[in-house]
Amino acid sequence: MSVTDGNDDYKGYRSPTLELLQKEEAPVWSEVTVHTSRGDFSGLILPRSQTADQLHVVLKLATGYNIGVRWDTVRSIDVHGRKEAHYQIPEKAFPHDPRKPRVKLFGTGGTIASRLDYRTGAVIPAFSPGELYGSVPELADVCNMETEKLYGVFSENMGPEQWIGTAKAVAAEIAKGVAGIVIGHGTDTMHHTAAVLSFMVQDPPVPIVMVGSQRSSDRPSSDAAINLINATRTAATSDIAEVMVCMFGPTSDKYGLLHRGTRVRKMHSSYRSTFRTIGDIPLGKVDEDGVTPFRDDYKRRRPDREVKLNAVFDDRVSLVYYYPAMKPDIIDSLVDNGYKGIIIAGTGLGHVNKPLYPALARAREAGVHVYMTVQTMWGYVQMYVYETGREIMELGVVPAANMLPEVAYVKLGWALGQTHDHDEVRRIMLSPVGGETTAREPHNGYLVFQGGIPEVDAFISSHWK
Ligand code: ASP
Repeated sequence: MSVTDGNDDYKGYRSPTLELLQKEEAPVWSEVTVHTSRGDFSGLILPRSQTADQLHVVLKLATGYNIGVRWDTVRSIDVHGRKEAHYQIPEKAFPHDPRKPRVKLFGTGGTIASRLDYRTGAVIPAFSPGELYGSVPELADVCNMETEKLYGVFSENMGPEQWIGTAKAVAAEIAKGVAGIVIGHGTDTMHHTAAVLSFMVQDPPVPIVMVGSQRSSDRPSSDAAINLINATRTAATSDIAEVMVCMFGPTSDKYGLLHRGTRVRKMHSSYRSTFRTIGDIPLGKVDEDGVTPFRDDYKRRRPDREVKLNAVFDDRVSLVYYYPAMKPDIIDSLVDNGYKGIIIAGTGLGHVNKPLYPALARAREAGVHVYMTVQTMWGYVQMYVYETGREIMELGVVPAANMLPEVAYVKLGWALGQTHDHDEVRRIMLSPVGGETTAREPHNGYLVFQGGIPEVDAFISSHWK
């Protein structure tokens, strides 16, 4: 039997894993039980990826997780069968029903548009409209969907160019008359894009719903399909005409939460329920019965309203997360390198250490716009409380109320894309466009999940039925 490890790149090199698989007559895609000195593992042998070493056999377990079994711990391998996995999703044309609303889905990349490439071992973006319908046919129950791939990147690669491109594409589609927009996006920086779109695409007449997934669609626990269905339902039917993020609400798939684009943040690196509204309550929830708003201070769907597009960004802006013992050269180097705006995420109510003060003064002299936010995430910058806060303000640093640091970062880039006049930038920064600063934070907007504390559990269940 000819046995390879599924990767020809290292032909000619001695591979202990390959020799093991050859000896045991267990080619890739065999369903096996591997008996090792650490116990028995059952699963499917996957091809070795380009970046993996040659010392481990990779098994996909029934749970969908992959594990590596070191070759020299293996005593024997029992082969039960063979199951070659094809992650190609069949392409199907999206059906058209004239009674259903038209929704446009833009793809930018991320896990939601991905599947696993077993040759490279990486999750690759693979957005295609036909694939989407082939994998989530329920979308046709909700709308007539048209799709367009704008980008195919993981979201750390989204930036001003892509933000502007997405804002323009969304506004152009709205001008053509559409019931709602869905934007597929990587989750890692979805909150940056949601915020910047809230500034660039104002007064949309219809919902603009951003969606992603924490787990790719080849995993049994994937949230891709349910998030996409919830986001599409929101875009097609919701009365909330704002930029929103729609993602898993609780840890189960009971409902999706709708978060205002300027008050949302990814809060967990792997939970599907990772997005949370910060300092406020979410706009609403969505499940198979439709959208249920939790509040009524949202912009309503108004098909006759004209969308305002203001797609500009000056990328000479930085976000500095203050830490004790930070040295002034961090600020100096930004100024020396021509940065025009700096957002500081300060400690507590908005502080940095005294050694930074001369650097802040130099930044002001150089005409740099400096704003203070809080790294506590919840609550307001309050620089009048301590003398240190007052001193920092005297150096020209402007408190940005309860704007989240990332939101302040994109807002400053957007403001500097319009003007460099200090008063005008300040006016733009301090005039809320879409909830990025709020007059107060409701007590039930401080919802940090702390399992096991009875009052918190009771509070959560009384609010989120
Ligand atoms: N790294 C991915 C991204 O942000 C993660 C995801 O999509 O969930 O593009």
